Amino acid sequence: MNADVITSNTYPHGTIEGFQGGCNTAHCPAEVSCRTVHTRYVGDWAFRRQVNAGMTPAEIVATEEEQAREAAEADLTAKRARPGARARASHEDGRAAANKARGDGLALIPRHTLRELLNAGLTDREIAEKLGLHRRQVTGSRRNAGYERNPDRNRRPAPAATGASS
Ligand SMILES: [Zn+2]
Repeated sequence: MNADVITSNTYPHGTIEGFQGGCNTAHCPAEVSCRTVHTRYVGDWAFRRQVNAGMTPAEIVATEEEQAREAAEADLTAKRARPGARARASHEDGRAAANKARGDGLALIPRHTLRELLNAGLTDREIAEKLGLHRRQVTGSRRNAGYERNPDRNRRPAPAATGASS
């Protein structure tokens, strides 16, 4: 290629004609090089249609960039607009899973079940009988859960129960 082509002020750079005229390197001074124009004109139907419609390659590329920017902004807006509940939900899902693994999943007795039985006034022994477990298993689960035991009436009377009912 003639070096004058690159420096010429009148050469139709950034056009199909420019590529066909011999500007086929990356040295093209046009915003969209002749080579790029040619490549896209040959391989990109939408690009060719717009060139044939009279748009310059620079205009087409600028439009494409604008559209890409708008698409990116729309995407970002959509992400921002998406309720945080999504992220919060996944966070809570993880926490629930952790609680499950730490609590009910590994515990012998589901904590809510243990809590209900304790609330009902059952002793460790009674809970064990009810659930088909050993008493010490119930005691262990209860201690892990941090729950107070109910006094075992059969072994020794609870201090508060003696003489309080009158
Ligand atoms: Zn050129």
